[in-house]
Amino acid sequence: MYFYTKRLNRYPLLTDNHGRPVNYLRLAVTDRCNLRCFYCMPEHGLDWLSRAELMSYEEMLRVSSLLVKMGIQKIRITGGEPFVRKDIMQLLTALSKLDGLDELSITTNGVLTAPFIPELKKIGVRSVNLSLDTLDSGRFFSITRRDEFDMVMNTLHQLLKQDIEVKINAVVMAGQNTQDIIPMVELTKELPVSVRFIEEMPFNGDSHVYTGLPWDHLRILEEIRDGFPGIQKLIDPAHSTSYNYHVPGHKGDVGIIAAYSRTFCGTCNRIRITPQGTLKNCLYDDGVLNIRDVMRKGITNEELEKVLTNAFNHRPQDGYEAERSRIEKTGVHESMATIGG
Ligand code: SAM
Repeated sequence: MYFYTKRLNRYPLLTDNHGRPVNYLRLAVTDRCNLRCFYCMPEHGLDWLSRAELMSYEEMLRVSSLLVKMGIQKIRITGGEPFVRKDIMQLLTALSKLDGLDELSITTNGVLTAPFIPELKKIGVRSVNLSLDTLDSGRFFSITRRDEFDMVMNTLHQLLKQDIEVKINAVVMAGQNTQDIIPMVELTKELPVSVRFIEEMPFNGDSHVYTGLPWDHLRILEEIRDGFPGIQKLIDPAHSTSYNYHVPGHKGDVGIIAAYSRTFCGTCNRIRITPQGTLKNCLYDDGVLNIRDVMRKGITNEELEKVLTNAFNHRPQDGYEAERSRIEKTGVHESMATIGG
């Protein structure tokens, strides 16, 4: 049952039909991206959404503000690439002022990010997830199809200089970057970053059938243990999607995210809104409601809260349940850029 309980006398604790708290929104602000990571989208890009199809900043702010009142405590801005959307700082600044929001963070590929870092710091962004799958510029080019490695590395160093916490997201792909696993763990020796290795997921905008994953979380861990036999398990924070580790003497940490194996659904606390306003209860589902459409039809906040409440009362138990119903409907693996990865 969906119900409210009081949270520090401020806003309610939002809970889903499986008793899981729902307190984390991932809001994708655009489907456009300035990289073409082959595991995310085709080389020619996607059929980009028109401006009218995208949610406006006003619409994003309205629904975010309502969700924060309902119990959302953390918002992550993602995409596509958030920094390719015009005037993104306007939205970030407005979101940072929402009363009751504990944390605003961003996932970015780091290409255009560096000049915005002082402003991000100023509005209170404390943590940024930076996507970087390799430390080799040649492999970076073959994975992303763009020559932007130096820009991303510059963003990494600028973020650290401003004392913004950095989590590096590296998708592990057979035959592409598994030789980067050890060097990326090495990076945590001198830099206070958390390097998180992510299982590759079937979200690349095609209809290719996935039949298992050669580099799953267990194999990734085995590889890391071979290189760093002294690595220690850390206690994972509540709702963490990563299994976390630390190499003694290193400044940073290591995480492994079983995104394909879906071992973390039991504590899932997150919902997603895509750039065109689709509410997703799960990364793997087909969308449960179009918030943009109902807002444009003139729904009141009271009615919208009811509709959202109903959606949270029908969350799938796990990503397998969600995926079954989506693939039955579409047969296609969406691009991560249209989902809000
Ligand atoms: N453009 C931003 C970025 O690159 O961080 C945000 C959007 S991107 C879709 C968000 C994250 O999704 C990135 O870390 C990316 O590596 C990850 N991602 C995209 N496709 C994926 C896939 N098929 N499997 C696993 N992770 C994926």
